[in-house]
Amino acid sequence: MVDNTGDLILGIDLGGSKILAAVVKSRGEMLSSDESTTPATEGREVVIQSIIDSAHSALKQANCTISEISAIGIGAPGISNPEAGILFTSPNLPGWRNVLLRDIIQDKLGKKAFLINDANAAALGEFYFGAARGVRNFIYVTLSTGIGGGIIIDGKIYSGAIGAAGEVGHMTIDDKGPICNCGNRGCWEMFASGTALAREARQRIKEGVKTYILGYAEGDVEKVTPKVIHSAAEQGDSLARKLIYRTGYYVGVGLANLINIFNPELIVIGGGLSNIGDMLLKPAFKTAGERSYKEAFQAVRFASAGLGRNSGVLGAAAFALQKMGRLPCE
Ligand SMILES: [Zn+2]
Repeated sequence: MVDNTGDLILGIDLGGSKILAAVVKSRGEMLSSDESTTPATEGREVVIQSIIDSAHSALKQANCTISEISAIGIGAPGISNPEAGILFTSPNLPGWRNVLLRDIIQDKLGKKAFLINDANAAALGEFYFGAARGVRNFIYVTLSTGIGGGIIIDGKIYSGAIGAAGEVGHMTIDDKGPICNCGNRGCWEMFASGTALAREARQRIKEGVKTYILGYAEGDVEKVTPKVIHSAAEQGDSLARKLIYRTGYYVGVGLANLINIFNPELIVIGGGLSNIGDMLLKPAFKTAGERSYKEAFQAVRFASAGLGRNSGVLGAAAFALQKMGRLPCE
């Protein structure tokens, strides 16, 4: 038996590369956590089975049964409608179209479930349990393979007409820029994500620019990742440093747009790419300051995500608690 003073929630964070399931107490304490790889290329049924397996594993680790759980919260990448529990489309899950993910999980696990976009979930996680506690107006930005976002206005997720709001990664930065997965051109994530950084590095290497980046990637241009570029930059490689600076510059261009539109108190920055730290974020904040209204820029603080890789799973759990009226919307 577990100490279940307060509600126990099963949080699920479905990502394009990993599935994280956790049993979470109502104050955000994680009793267990199970991580597995998302078999994204094997199709929908296989991915759903992996979610179920991961959920059972998290329950087992927490030494509890589904009957002791109050509800399930699922965070999923892509455009979804939380009210209808439907995932319309997801760039990270090929072949998924109009999937009633909430009902599928609800039926398979036999417990009430709630669906939310993964970056919105992460914003809620930071709001209730992380770096944005007590802040009523803030924006969460995740710099990762792509760029995701969650907008909290007056203590609530701003979800828009059909639940698709907060797709900050797809604001247009250059109308003639590279084509994005979403079909548009020159989206923010085409310039300021980990994918964009790696793409630029590969391009420069192919053009013959002198760099030690390849040495960190076993000599294989396909193995050039943001992590590899960061390692080279730390050793003083000039191309790597320039490319990280350029990515930071574009992060700042997008942040300036967000600052001018929302005048947030706080912008919380998470995602794997942000682990590069000052080398990326200093030029980002400098550019954001140069390109936004001075008064609005002076009013904003920046913070790193406080929950790290758990912000999504904790936020999915928080969303379920909120929907059941067990967490105040404040
Ligand atoms: Zn896009």
